[in-house]
Amino acid sequence: MTRTFFVGGNWKMNGSVAAVSTLVDGLNTASLKQGVEVVIAPPALYIPAVQSSLKAGHVAAQNIYSESKGAFTGEISAEMLKDVGVQWVILGHSERRHVFGETDELIAKKAKHALGVGLKVIFCIGETLQEREANKTTEVVFHQLSAVAQVVSDWSNIVIAYEPVWAIGTGKVATPVQAQEVHHDIRVWLKDHVSPQAAENTRIVYGGSVNAGNCQEIGRQADVDGFLVGGASLKPEFADIINAAQ
Ligand code: PEP
Repeated sequence: MTRTFFVGGNWKMNGSVAAVSTLVDGLNTASLKQGVEVVIAPPALYIPAVQSSLKAGHVAAQNIYSESKGAFTGEISAEMLKDVGVQWVILGHSERRHVFGETDELIAKKAKHALGVGLKVIFCIGETLQEREANKTTEVVFHQLSAVAQVVSDWSNIVIAYEPVWAIGTGKVATPVQAQEVHHDIRVWLKDHVSPQAAENTRIVYGGSVNAGNCQEIGRQADVDGFLVGGASLKPEFADIINAAQ
């Protein structure tokens, strides 16, 4: 099976009514390669605006809570996203893990809940610089994957985003070889711990300072099935990154 190239744009906590309109207009008028799955994750407040105006892709939330409803002030649920027609959610982003202290177990609980409700999940994993320098990259990402594998058996609605923490928003991008190595290891892990089908079919996308200049070479790697893009998704070059699809 060929894996459809996937490009996600994570706007993080950026935007305004005017900026959202400019960004969506830019994407709607850009010349984009056919056959790429594009998913934009605006701040939750702007989801309806993006949903009603974006022609070139789908919309994701940047997070959910693990429960359906109730006394969880400030949170939104998977059910609410489904209710307003959102299909995707990003879970486990390094900022959720490191700024907000989300654990592997909480992220796994959220993933199980989101998938159960019928959302698709962009599941982020990745090591810190300290962990990479201590040769713990695979140990860390396998642990992050295992937490989800313990509670989820069907990976067909999961896109894995390998995002080394040291490369997110830093301008330090993993080399194509570094990205390919980890993506390959993740695919082997899927084969051994989920199924050969999951290894073959699951998209593994790279994130971490992807831009128009580095996307072509990273995107050419055998186990890189697309990108999750932060900073550059707020710029016109996001169209070039979509067009780097192999
Ligand atoms: C991200 O937020 O997922 C990300 C990869 O950010 P950036 O592209 O800015 O490094």
